Amino acid sequence: MATTVNPVDIQPRQVANKSDKHALLEAIRMTLNIQSAAIRHNTQTFNRNRYVAVAKLPDYDALKDRARAIKEQAIADSPKLLKQVEESVRRNGGHFYLAPTAADANAYIRDVLVKHEAKLVVKGKSITSEETRLNHVLEVAGIKVAETDLAEFILQVADEQPSHIIAPALHYSRERITALFKRKFETDLPLDTGEELTKFAREKLREQFIAADAGISGANFVAADSGSIMLVESEGNIRMTTTLPPLHIAIAGIEKVIPSREDLGTFLELLPASATGQPITSYVSILHPPLKAPSFAAPGKAEKPREFHLVLIDNGRSKMREDPVLREALYCIRCSACLNSCANFETVGGHAFGGETYSGGIGGSWEAGTGKLMNARFAELCTACSRCVNNCPVRIDIPWLNENLRHRMSQAQPASVVKSAFGTLTGSAPEDRTAPLQKQFFGNYQTFGKWGTSNAGLANSSMDWGFARSAMESMLGVDHRRELPKFPEKSWEDLYREERREATPQNGVRPKLTVLADVFTNFGEPERGMAAIRVLRKCGYDVELTPALSDGRAALSQGMIDTAREQALAMVKMLRPYVENGQKLVVVEPSVLAMFRFDLRHFMQDQAFFEKLRSISFEPLQLVWQASQQFNLDLHQMFPAEHWRHGTRLFYHSHCQQRTCNAASETIDVLRACGFDVVTSSVECCGMAGSFGYKADYYDLSMAVGEDLFAQVRDADAANGPRALVASGVSCHEQIWSGLKRPVHHPVEILDSLAN
Ligand code: SF4
Ligand code: SF4
Repeated sequence: MATTVNPVDIQPRQVANKSDKHALLEAIRMTLNIQSAAIRHNTQTFNRNRYVAVAKLPDYDALKDRARAIKEQAIADSPKLLKQVEESVRRNGGHFYLAPTAADANAYIRDVLVKHEAKLVVKGKSITSEETRLNHVLEVAGIKVAETDLAEFILQVADEQPSHIIAPALHYSRERITALFKRKFETDLPLDTGEELTKFAREKLREQFIAADAGISGANFVAADSGSIMLVESEGNIRMTTTLPPLHIAIAGIEKVIPSREDLGTFLELLPASATGQPITSYVSILHPPLKAPSFAAPGKAEKPREFHLVLIDNGRSKMREDPVLREALYCIRCSACLNSCANFETVGGHAFGGETYSGGIGGSWEAGTGKLMNARFAELCTACSRCVNNCPVRIDIPWLNENLRHRMSQAQPASVVKSAFGTLTGSAPEDRTAPLQKQFFGNYQTFGKWGTSNAGLANSSMDWGFARSAMESMLGVDHRRELPKFPEKSWEDLYREERREATPQNGVRPKLTVLADVFTNFGEPERGMAAIRVLRKCGYDVELTPALSDGRAALSQGMIDTAREQALAMVKMLRPYVENGQKLVVVEPSVLAMFRFDLRHFMQDQAFFEKLRSISFEPLQLVWQASQQFNLDLHQMFPAEHWRHGTRLFYHSHCQQRTCNAASETIDVLRACGFDVVTSSVECCGMAGSFGYKADYYDLSMAVGEDLFAQVRDADAANGPRALVASGVSCHEQIWSGLKRPVHHPVEILDSLAN
């Protein structure tokens, strides 16, 4: 990674705009060096609490479906709802302004405040006002803005942008806040505990509340039928902001408008649980201002009548609504579950995995939608691991959004003869040949896998040639510290063909299975593929291996959407006869299984066939477990753990996409039924994420993410002695090997070695 400045000298605002890639790389260095420990602690705490909280929600899935349906309908009906909310607000006695741009919103708010001769404004947390840079405009007009949310107060003192949607200062440790306050306020007061810091901030803020001329808040939701705004918070400052001063201005994006007050209940159940893991937050205010109660008049100040303005801003949202991909981002309810369940975000936070306002996996779409496409460059940090997908309360397909952003950014790059020729040779679709060489290299894995396996001797020895390795590093951005896997001399297809020539396999007693020769196993781990076939046969299945075709996963993860579509559709065509024959489909590599379960739907017209494919696709040990349950197989007798040469104690790490597919628990069940003592990892992702960990730009981040997993292995070893390491994904094997330099086994290989 390029280095220019010492990470401690980099200020977050300097690297907030990442349209220049250099800023992204500097931001990663800064956050890894300074912020990572606090971010990890805070996001992982939110994430753990969220899992507990949503597990307690009755009908979590139904609730998510309802929330999604409300948001879909609200965005579809947006023009109608905006008219309705305007009428409701005016009927309540408030003022309404629909701002086409951020500048319009700022000008309107400034003019209202100037008219009221406001000198001091208290403000509750509002990310929309961050988007418009409202504070700056007001300060230029001579109006002081006091941020009243503790985290926003810290950021205002530090002059930093938020690093998280709901906890904007979660990158600050207590010690760093103490140092900041002591420096900025030049105080000798003891500020060594959370309580002392909070008391200090509260006293400062109380003075502001008493003296404030106006309050500015955001709005979590706005109900069109009543003009009600819902505000969810944990500190009570927003309630004071909206009720103490006589003038209240609420600013929100137009996507916050939902049809009715009744709909608020659905979000009230989902939002706190998804955000902080609380059943409900400490303060929930549902107001339809202007309030009837008198406002607070400080001693010596005259009481004034209440006035309310709702400012809804468009600022690119209508265009997002017309955009078939970015429209989905408008459903976001800003809960941050996708940030907290993202291993990359947990490691660097929003000052690296974020832009000037919005952060995390969903942030790229918002930066692109409300600003410029290239502002979404940090979306490169989305590895498409998919861990956020099931955790999003409105079911947004965040990796798909980011893959499309990558696609658009590649298409915006100038064409070149070299890129075009490279793409033609390696198999990129014509539309993807403007993508950088690195993306086309990793996106066309099947081409290199095929060549490497056909010329294994040459390919493997060339990896040790200094100039070949240097070329990979300089032209393709492969990190010099990452070991490259060796190519096998025979592909999975070759081994399968040979086996069929040498012996006629026994017909199984159970239905025939189709085993997909996915390209990662075919060219990377062919013996593993054969092991899967033998284990399935041992369970009585009759199996048949398909030809090896790319499913499009490698291209998709690079944002080469057209290449991915071409490959995926060719694979679907190849599979159709097997599926129509009623055969279940076995997929060894979990990232490919995720294509069948999720991603193919974006490419297929025939959604009924997609649903069929999705329902018949399984990870091999899912079928082993199914067979054992249906046919009373004694797995311990078939695969006795005590005969395994590495012992019976295992540490198992399941692949991120395997867990998103709900296809991991059976592996643990099978291993335990065989007699193994299994401890499992609890990290969201190992950090390798396919090609991500190979890239020099992201190697340090990849290994930093991996450190959580390595630490769990070390802890498990320390508890009761060493355990053999087991993982299900090709990438996970590479990452664990890189971090611990210990052999990693695949579950099917273990079973195969035990089959007698
Ligand atoms: S897909 Fe994975 S890397 Fe991307 S935002 Fe979601 S959790 Fe993060
Ligand atoms: S994308 Fe989903 S999970 Fe992420 S903040 Fe928005 S609603 Fe929450």
